[in-house]
Amino acid sequence: MIDKNIVLSSSGTTTSVVTPLTGSHYAALPVSTVDDVAEAYARAAAAQREWCAVAPRERGQVLLRFHDLLLSRQAEALDIIQTATGKARWHAFEELAGTAVGARYYGRRAERMLACTRRSGFLPGVIRVDEVRRPKGVVGVISPWNYPLELGVSDGLAAVAAGNGVVHKPDVQGALTALWGVGLLREAGMPEDLWQVVVGDGPTIGGAVVDGADHVCFTGSTRTGREVAKRAAERLVGVSLELGGKNALLVLDDANPDRAAEIAVRACFTSAGQLCVSTERLYVHDAVHDAFMECFLRRVRHMRLGVGLDWSAEMGSLASQRQLGVVEEHVRDAVEKGARVLTGGKRRPDVGPYCYEPTVLAGVTEDMTCFAEETFGPVVSVYRCSTVDEAVHMANDTRYGLNASVLSGNVRSGRVVAARLNSGSVNVNEGYASSYGSVDAPMGGIGDSGIGRRHGAEGLLRFTEAQTIASRRGIGLGRPPLVGFRSLARGYTLLLKLFRALGRS
Ligand code: NAD
Repeated sequence: MIDKNIVLSSSGTTTSVVTPLTGSHYAALPVSTVDDVAEAYARAAAAQREWCAVAPRERGQVLLRFHDLLLSRQAEALDIIQTATGKARWHAFEELAGTAVGARYYGRRAERMLACTRRSGFLPGVIRVDEVRRPKGVVGVISPWNYPLELGVSDGLAAVAAGNGVVHKPDVQGALTALWGVGLLREAGMPEDLWQVVVGDGPTIGGAVVDGADHVCFTGSTRTGREVAKRAAERLVGVSLELGGKNALLVLDDANPDRAAEIAVRACFTSAGQLCVSTERLYVHDAVHDAFMECFLRRVRHMRLGVGLDWSAEMGSLASQRQLGVVEEHVRDAVEKGARVLTGGKRRPDVGPYCYEPTVLAGVTEDMTCFAEETFGPVVSVYRCSTVDEAVHMANDTRYGLNASVLSGNVRSGRVVAARLNSGSVNVNEGYASSYGSVDAPMGGIGDSGIGRRHGAEGLLRFTEAQTIASRRGIGLGRPPLVGFRSLARGYTLLLKLFRALGRS
């Protein structure tokens, strides 16, 4: 059951939501106005004033109960995610599992991350310094359509664990999933008003979400991310931006061709390539190129497409007519300029209205849109390389830097190559799941892929302000009676030399 009344809406109007499973309308959602967004901030702020006084351990318990509810309501969640996105059930499960892992992690670890930390005072024994973490207030969360549960809810979970309130604007297409998640959080014990959901177009109410926030947590395209950052900068409010990517996967000369092909298929075609960390560029070493391509193309050609609410499909649908249009346009442009389609390259209305075949291109050149632009679909370009240096150079030739992968027969040499890639995360012998699923480590992008990190301590502490409380005991820091400034300076100089000699930092 999804409670649409969670949406704060006074407009009296609704917006239609279409499912990619059939291409038809399946729900109407109340639309929020700019005034509703302001009201949402007022309500969340009032609830947050009480929530921040709740012990971090108790707040963590809400996340752990949410984790358990998520697993016990799994079938319901998977139906909702598939209906909203059209992705295969296994990919919906990955999304659910990722959300559960994040909830468990912050549910257990937030208390320790938020604990007051003793810092060394500049006069030991005289000055005690405590670093305290205070919640920012109300975090504005703006999320996209591709992972409506995980990206809609997970960042907000960290914000709430840190003692904040949330005003959340999901993409309209993902809004029902987000509402389901917020309903579950309420069942898990989260106070009702703490997490407000508003629904509407980005250009209409997105600005108001940025304007009311004490911190903005945005996931979406680089173009919108830039606008959000500019707007937040006017008020000197912090932002974390999780943006697009053009992720590379390197197949090194010692990689096992079939094992590498199996990994590459998952790296490229999970959620039909509508995954920020999925691979769109493959760099394959000469030594294994032909063997790898044979295995890779065979596997891609055999992928089972489907849009049923069951476990049979290996790849589902694109999420919308718009996304199908982008994919078709990228492939058309590439082919017109001389690229070769090695497999795929066609829409599949016989499977689902927005289905498109997993597609592998060769001969992609700089003048083609899909060379450097993110397609965000099941399309990968393959490039042959004669050395590892060449592969690294080509992989780094992008303004993005979200995720990369290195496949090698030798994990150690894979790690050496990984360290040379300009990317927020690099997976050795896996596409994205090792790094993304390891939530104890930060995840995010460099360059046009974003600012800030989710996951790990950084993913929680971004929603806090550090406050330093320094308390002096005993003697004062001023000039004692009868001591001149020159003598005082000499005394302090001696002290500084002593600290240096004693190895104090
Ligand atoms: P988008 O930028 O169009 O929309 C994202 C969100 O921003 C939506 O909720 C939208 O309504 C809102 N929005 C739009 N205009 C706005 C404005 N002017 N002010 C405030 N909010 C506004 O992105 P999308 O097409 O929904 O998502 C796909 C993109 O997201 C891809 O580029 C993908 O790589 C990226 N993405 C990144 C990550 C990551 O973690 N790095 C994860 C998922 C998706």
